[in-house]
Amino acid sequence: MDIQDKEQLWQAVLAELEVTLSRANFLTWFQSTKILIISPEGEVIIGVPNNFTKEWLERKYHKIILGIFQNLTNQKIKKINYQVEPLGVSIIPSVPLKVDLNKIKVAIKEEMNGFGLNPRYTFERFIVGKSNELAYAGAQAVVEMPGKKYNPFFIYGGVGLGKTHLLQAIGHALLKKYSKLKCLYTNAERFTNEFVKAIRDGTMGKFKKAHREVDVLLVDDIQFMAGKESTQEEFFHTFNHLYQNDKQIVITSDRPPKAIPALEERLISRFTSGLIVDIALPDLEMRLAILRARCQENGRVLDESIIQYLATHIQKNIRELEGAMAKIFAYQDLSKLTPSLDLVKEILSSLSASAPKGLVNLKQIIQAVVDFYGFKVNDLISDSRRRELVKARQVAIYLMREDLNLSFPMIGKEIGGRDHTTVMYSYKRVREELEKDGRLKQEVDYIRQRLYNK
Ligand code: ADP
Ligand code: MG
Repeated sequence: MDIQDKEQLWQAVLAELEVTLSRANFLTWFQSTKILIISPEGEVIIGVPNNFTKEWLERKYHKIILGIFQNLTNQKIKKINYQVEPLGVSIIPSVPLKVDLNKIKVAIKEEMNGFGLNPRYTFERFIVGKSNELAYAGAQAVVEMPGKKYNPFFIYGGVGLGKTHLLQAIGHALLKKYSKLKCLYTNAERFTNEFVKAIRDGTMGKFKKAHREVDVLLVDDIQFMAGKESTQEEFFHTFNHLYQNDKQIVITSDRPPKAIPALEERLISRFTSGLIVDIALPDLEMRLAILRARCQENGRVLDESIIQYLATHIQKNIRELEGAMAKIFAYQDLSKLTPSLDLVKEILSSLSASAPKGLVNLKQIIQAVVDFYGFKVNDLISDSRRRELVKARQVAIYLMREDLNLSFPMIGKEIGGRDHTTVMYSYKRVREELEKDGRLKQEVDYIRQRLYNK
């Protein structure tokens, strides 16, 4: 290799790095880099897009990079330095607001493949930092030896911190590694619903088979099994069956097993017999890494000041971090303008004004609404046209649509078998009323607070 050919040499180094690092880390840190200078004395200067990358490469990857260089050049390269060399992106300062921020709705797509797994939730796209390295290592070990080492593997942590992502990453990796493996991904809510349905329809045999004849069972959000005794009983037997046959079980929850109220003692002790790890809040470094990775994946460039601002202001929820970013990207597409820092601040304040979207389900929404207005669930789904009741019904419909993104026919079905046009009308009605009716807005805000700030 001609070691004076900067392009060729860097490509060779990158090729080595790519197989050493995870895809997300590789893209984040190396996509916009190049060799600027190779001196006759064997010093290389690498151009990086910003200071942050510079520090990161110096601190984390320097040894690896130098090692690769030396290998490739027979030790002719002796020294590496990093220099910030922005890619010449022009940042238009403070642009006039042509697009109404409140009209931008972004829904992060919840895609699914044939196994019920989101194709985006892979190890490659999972950024590892201090807050989740143990969970990550545990997940890797499970993929190494499913059913052998850490069984069950229990992951807990707050909303939007990557539990579902990691759980599904295990699924993806196992399916890739063992082509014949039977892996089932489910969550407590689905397990409960299917169990109830199986009893009702007399199809318990089928239900048992579906859950017991698997090699790996991934159960998301087990906390939703709290208080559901017969479901817990069934899950206990499912668990034992799998466990005794050395089948891997992975469970996630928003809190540790002991802290789940109304969870049977014997289930708690089953869960504690394996490995329990938590995912903590991401530190700044990790939040920055996630933002950069998302930019790279989407082929976007955001000004460093924006990235820093987002990472310092959204600290508790990666989903929110992604949501803010999606909103900025949407703005970028619609307005064809480069978002300014001012605009980003505005976006953030509009996001924090609307309640943080945690893990709620349709039943919780209905419950919160009837609790607030003083009705019973049966009232809400009844045919009664009492004025206050109609209002409560419409608010419930509005929240289901707005916060859960459910389809109108689906909402109709849940709310007493109503026609989807009626549902759509109710939704629009509330949305319009909210613009002018301060009291209604307060009520909706209050219900949301109760729902999300448990
Ligand atoms: P939880 O199940 O804990 O509520 P999710 O797994 O749904 O959280 O994660 C929320 C979002 O944040 C997802 O889009 C996920 O891809 C992303 N995310 C979470 N943790 C990470 C991480 N470590 N690296 C990259 N993306 C992450
Ligand atoms: Mg989740």
